[in-house]
Amino acid sequence: MTLPKESTDTGLLKTILEKLENIESSIQTKSAMTDNEQGDTETQSKAPISPSVPASKAAGISPPSPTSLKDNVYESHVILTTYPNQVGIKPISLKWGATSAQERGPIVASRHPQSIRIRNAIGAYGGSYCIYRALAVAIGDLSPNHRPDYTNTEPPFTFGHPAQWDDPEKIVSIDPWGHLTVESFGDQISKGIDIRPTIAVTRAHMKLAEVDEAIEQGRLAKDGDVVTSEGQLKVLKAAIEPVWYLPGVAKRFGIGETLLRRALFEDTGGMYPELITRPDLKVFLPPIGGLTVYIFGDPEKISDPSQKLTMRVHDECNGSDVFGSDICTCRPYLIYGIEQCVKTAQEGGVGAIVYFRKEGRALGEVTKYLVYNARKRQEGGDTAANYFKRTECIAGVKDMRFQALMPDVLHWLGIKKIDRFISMSNMKYNAITGSGIDILERVSIPEDMIPEDSQVEIKAKIADGYFTTENAPTEKDLVNTRGRDWDDIHH
Ligand SMILES: [Zn+2]
Repeated sequence: MTLPKESTDTGLLKTILEKLENIESSIQTKSAMTDNEQGDTETQSKAPISPSVPASKAAGISPPSPTSLKDNVYESHVILTTYPNQVGIKPISLKWGATSAQERGPIVASRHPQSIRIRNAIGAYGGSYCIYRALAVAIGDLSPNHRPDYTNTEPPFTFGHPAQWDDPEKIVSIDPWGHLTVESFGDQISKGIDIRPTIAVTRAHMKLAEVDEAIEQGRLAKDGDVVTSEGQLKVLKAAIEPVWYLPGVAKRFGIGETLLRRALFEDTGGMYPELITRPDLKVFLPPIGGLTVYIFGDPEKISDPSQKLTMRVHDECNGSDVFGSDICTCRPYLIYGIEQCVKTAQEGGVGAIVYFRKEGRALGEVTKYLVYNARKRQEGGDTAANYFKRTECIAGVKDMRFQALMPDVLHWLGIKKIDRFISMSNMKYNAITGSGIDILERVSIPEDMIPEDSQVEIKAKIADGYFTTENAPTEKDLVNTRGRDWDDIHH
């Protein structure tokens, strides 16, 4: 096939296609040889999907010893779906932003035998946990064709059908029908298609030491409803895995879809060739952490603009949130947010915390700890003046959370306005208000909840433009705001 070079991107795509063609013909040759050797006529009578090849030969490696691989885990042939216009591959069409789940169509990411031909999404269900699923299959703990039994898994509350679900540009990073998968596509599921929920909703009770303290000190009261007589918080929660509609995600960031696909392909180490070779697949399930919504009070009220809503959007900081590290304000801020949500719920309104798995400003904990060391060891010690510089030296940017996709979950909840927004972040504020949701009041963390060592972080953030009701620190304040020294950390 001779192809004109039009641009770098299409040139690359075509080079890949040519290579794939070569691989395909070599694979088909090998496959035919193997089939002949084994006298395997069964595979030839199946619907023609090419290329197909014995697993060991596809990888170009010798087969593992019989003891290291459970017998018959997979069929002997690998079906690649990276080649465009393959015979037998017919993805179910998707209409993003359609007004019903059926019209929109199911998101099928599975490679199970009955789903692989109609699969219409790149990636796998379960976010990053798909890797553990793979291990479970490889060691023989899980059948690759296991199908979930969804009995009694349905959500206790469904959030109705907010108008935002029908706008293809309002929600681009989650599947608004993701918790209604079983209800909406039960027929297809019972016929054997592997369609999985990407959202699950449940109820729970929460017990927090700080809430006990707030009750003791009289800041919160047990009302027997939002706060039980035992001091537990009643909560409705929703876990959400990301489902990216690539044209919408690209548009949100003001870039082209081709560039987005290329970047995702390159920076996942080429993990998803279909990003490049299958432009017909518009949905991508990225292998990243999702988010959880915690709702205090009556969830019906969250989309009702006549009801008061208090809310915090919190990005994960495991060291502080769970383990109580005092170098930052994350857990105190989270607790303050929960307390304010509970108060609003007790006053007859509703409160919500949205918890995003974006550890360490989405730079990850390894980068975060490198930054901590660099901050504490730098000349002059850890000061607010140099807070962001150390992160930039190591990560190249000071923040990778890019809040552009964050408001999607608020639109999924049907939120139209937020009365009290418990956050100092301008990025979060701008993303939310820019998406059409009003914020009536911004609330920063009270001074007495800020740990001493995290003054560096908070002062630096305020100087960088974060919201505060207090005076912004001067240049001198920034230099003088020092965290714990390296020597003090040794223990
Ligand atoms: Zn933190």
